[in-house]
Amino acid sequence: MYESDTMVKMVKKISIGYLISLPYYKKMEEKKVIAGMDPDMLAIHLATAGIDERYARRLLYWVYRRGIRSFSEPDDIPVRVKSALEERFITGVNPPVSSVRSSDGSVKYLFGTAGGLSHETVWLPEGRRMTVCVSVQSGCRMGCRFCATGRDGWRGNLTAGEIVNQVVGITDPFTHIVLMGMGEPGDNIGEVIRACRVFTAEWGLAAGRSKVTVSTVGVTPAVRRLLDETEVNITLSLHSPFADERAEVIPAERRWPFTESLELMQEYDNSRRRRFTVAYVMIKGKNDSGRHLEELRRLLHGTGIRVNLLPYHPLPGDSEKSADEKTMMQFRHQLVTSGVGASVRRSRGADIAAACGMLASGGTTRKRKG
Ligand code: SF4
Repeated sequence: MYESDTMVKMVKKISIGYLISLPYYKKMEEKKVIAGMDPDMLAIHLATAGIDERYARRLLYWVYRRGIRSFSEPDDIPVRVKSALEERFITGVNPPVSSVRSSDGSVKYLFGTAGGLSHETVWLPEGRRMTVCVSVQSGCRMGCRFCATGRDGWRGNLTAGEIVNQVVGITDPFTHIVLMGMGEPGDNIGEVIRACRVFTAEWGLAAGRSKVTVSTVGVTPAVRRLLDETEVNITLSLHSPFADERAEVIPAERRWPFTESLELMQEYDNSRRRRFTVAYVMIKGKNDSGRHLEELRRLLHGTGIRVNLLPYHPLPGDSEKSADEKTMMQFRHQLVTSGVGASVRRSRGADIAAACGMLASGGTTRKRKG
């Protein structure tokens, strides 16, 4: 949580940032937003506007790779075309409204949407690896018990452009993109798939399919679409290998049993070696017993699906605690020695409420939860 003086500064920045951004948002409402489009889609919109559609790929390069906010920037597009673009289009590249830096170097950004909703993005540097963790919704309606976003409720879906902008709109370099911020990708799957295409395509950010990971509670039809329509990695938030216990922390289990997603991953022809992972937040005395370990082994042995063990970050009012490091290391060791790939992920950004399960932007860019 924020200290009160930090909060005051943040709220001031947010309000000023929002007001400054209003003319920009107004323009966004009236004009076509390029961020989120693919070459075919942009070519159609260009042709409709009477602009040569052959500019589509060049424009996408400037928007996705160079992050231009204005059409005056490209030096390889004629002035008359730039004028026509200014009249009918907007790039959709929009800087964050505010940011806060953790003592470990990670940075949390707050973004606003055209509708005044807010969402958070986290940049996590770790040696040569630099990860951007993006949101796919403002809030979330899955209601997972351990998650601040879930407690905050759902306010709206982000467009593909708004998802992509979280990478293009910041100046930090990146090597990996994870869709693990606010929201459930399976609840906004069309826009998520479009964003993943932009992240991985040569005409987009060309991040490399193995560098992009979507995390889901396991909305079965959405997992099927991710497998069929993208090549990105998939992480299933598991947190318990027992359906009844899992349903207590992830209510979506009652509608979409995790076993369905595991089956889809196992049936998938993985000759291209996509990485499938299970995320397992370890809660002391809840899911860190030998019984849980045995069931995890039974479920995952021989599947090629790895386990990512994560510390638990208690939220205000929680009585539960994270499993200690020794228990987590033992869990990892037992899994690995029985042939299930596993790793322990270090906690990052907890001091700025940017660690797993802590994102909660508080609704709009005009107000913020402490
Ligand atoms: S863990 Fe993910 S799916 Fe669950 S409430 Fe939080 S953001 Fe939503």
